Amino acid sequence: AFSHTPAGRNHLYVPGPVNVHDSVIRAMSVPGQNHRDPWFAEFYKQCLHDLKMIFGTADGTPIIFPGTGTGGWEAALTNTLSPGDKVVTFRYGLFSHLWIDMMQRLGLDVHVIEGRWGDGAYEDKLAEVLKADKDKKIKAVCVVHNETTTGVTSDIPEVRKTMDAASHPALLLVDGVSSIGALDFQFDKWRVDVAVTGSQKALSIPTGLAMVCASDKAIASMKTAKSRRCYYDFADMLRLNPSGNVPYTPSLPLLYGMQASLKLLRDEGMQNVVARHHRLAEGCRKAVEGWGLQTLCRDTRWKSDSLTVIEVPKGIDSQKIVDVAYAKYNLSLGIGLADVKGKVFRIGHLGNMDELMLSSALCGAEMSLIDAGVPLTPGSGVARALDYWQKTSAIIPTRE
Ligand code: PLP
Repeated sequence: AFSHTPAGRNHLYVPGPVNVHDSVIRAMSVPGQNHRDPWFAEFYKQCLHDLKMIFGTADGTPIIFPGTGTGGWEAALTNTLSPGDKVVTFRYGLFSHLWIDMMQRLGLDVHVIEGRWGDGAYEDKLAEVLKADKDKKIKAVCVVHNETTTGVTSDIPEVRKTMDAASHPALLLVDGVSSIGALDFQFDKWRVDVAVTGSQKALSIPTGLAMVCASDKAIASMKTAKSRRCYYDFADMLRLNPSGNVPYTPSLPLLYGMQASLKLLRDEGMQNVVARHHRLAEGCRKAVEGWGLQTLCRDTRWKSDSLTVIEVPKGIDSQKIVDVAYAKYNLSLGIGLADVKGKVFRIGHLGNMDELMLSSALCGAEMSLIDAGVPLTPGSGVARALDYWQKTSAIIPTRE
């Protein structure tokens, strides 16, 4: 059963890992090389410099760890905090839950604001918690920007405003794993202290790099942060990176891929990248409406442009849709995770993605919904998306 490769291709629409652009695949296809040869230092300095674009920073310090988003979480917490430190955060999906679990395992004193899975960060509840913290004991506010379980993008500028309104000095630690490089992200303007992302998401290269960006305030907090850290210690990176060195063997193919991917984003322009994600998401949401279904996220201000999470009608197991999509159409959709298992499926549209690619996901999802017993008219969702994209897609700038 595993040896038969179907004709065509696997149609990949999970919210990471995402589709890798042909030019990026070619850039990564290299023989073994020595990172201690003289060319490396300049190359690596350029990598760190170029990465600033997706974080929206001039002042922050990007650091690249071989690892994944989860490693980035650990770096953010252990470099800035000590066991016993109070932190406040939100639980509204599996990823925010897993980050909380890590905070607790690291011995932090975690105040969790519970939310409906499908909602974002409640600024009013955060305001209450910060106001009650008269002695300013809370050391960090931790927020998952885009909750990949539910398709919800929280409003980080509002979180920052809430912290400012309370004159609270806590650090702002942000998981941007499924937002950075796809959605608007302004590290400097929002005064984020540590932001985290992973290579298999919007950056659209294979899994294996955890990218973080640290503010001067975060770097200063390393001096007092007593959490044990070793592999993910910023200090080793900060000591060596300025001269283009690294404390352990870098993955050169991934770095080449990163540079090729950043070039694509730079050529497109980050504003256009963000606008493209919005256009793709809007089309996808039109299709959901056309199917007579609802996104798990109800509040328009929180609807994610990285992925769309669709609730299925009662009595239908969403896993059946994902299973038939893969078995019949070679289409990979995201399953419902944890508390929303069986209730939702997810269509990822972040990273290297365009209207015609996403159309095929919608075609496959529509057929799979019918296969799973959802009473739909073929074309009901797809037609809505096509109509929207036909009217809103821009001419590619170099082809005008
Ligand atoms: N945070 C978010 C929002 C995610 O979506 C994920 C993975 O999907 C992670 C963290 C964990 O990242 P990784 O699987 O790369 O360790």
